[in-house]
Amino acid sequence: SLPLENKRVLVTAAGQGIGRASALAFSRAGATVIATDINAAALASLSGEGRIETRVLDVLNDDAVKAVIAEAGPFDVLFNCAGFVHAGSILDMADKDLDFAFDLNVRAMVRTIRAVLPSMLERGGGAIINMASVASSIKGVPNRCAYSVTKAAVIGLTKSVAADYVAQGIRCNAICPGTVESPSLQDRMKAQGDYETARAAFIARQPMGRLGTPEEIADLAVHLATATYTTGQAYAIDGGWTI
Ligand code: NAD
Repeated sequence: SLPLENKRVLVTAAGQGIGRASALAFSRAGATVIATDINAAALASLSGEGRIETRVLDVLNDDAVKAVIAEAGPFDVLFNCAGFVHAGSILDMADKDLDFAFDLNVRAMVRTIRAVLPSMLERGGGAIINMASVASSIKGVPNRCAYSVTKAAVIGLTKSVAADYVAQGIRCNAICPGTVESPSLQDRMKAQGDYETARAAFIARQPMGRLGTPEEIADLAVHLATATYTTGQAYAIDGGWTI
């Protein structure tokens, strides 16, 4: 039988990139997947794929988060994948950018975890996976201030939830990728003007000499959903960036 047979998995930001690859990977591992995203058109590309149901969900909206989880739960696995990358140093960072980054990259996870935890506790178990980054408390990366501050907070949130509920069957881990080929990475490369130079610079910081793929990150997400003796950890998956 498949490792996630009879499990229900909620994925945020499943419309593209790592979230989309993860929804497909969870489904291949036997789970029923509720794939959510703010972008209905992106989600539409998932309907009809395996055991995947889609719901439009803006993770900035607390009522919407509660409603989707009440309607589509209970969940055995939550993968918090939504996040946004701001460019710039602390002097470039507007307060509104930091507020937005906290809301999407951190508070959205607080919202979903608060909404799924009671039923996980009632049923005696659950796995929560939060998307962080090596750009966080793990590594200082130039021009990623708002991003790194909030991704470090994701690691703190992960460890806190893990510590509070370890005896009640809840596991909570963070995934910390290096540079992964995704639609938003493409946008960041194009925004720098000279696409080829920007791409070469992103590849150069990965000692493996290439970008990661969404599928490689999705493999780790499935692993963490089933790896029953690990909790509270920040898993770097970064092509050797932090060796
Ligand atoms: P992406 O950035 O290309 O796509 C993000 C998705 O999030 C989109 O489908 C978008 O519609 C959705 N989204 C945006 N706002 C939303 C909201 N309010 N509610 C629900 N969904 C919303 O995907 P990616 O690059 O694979 O990034 C996914 C996650 O992985 C992010 O948390 C990102 O910080 C993290 N990450 C990415 C990389 C990378 O190099 N790509 C590296 C480290 C960490």
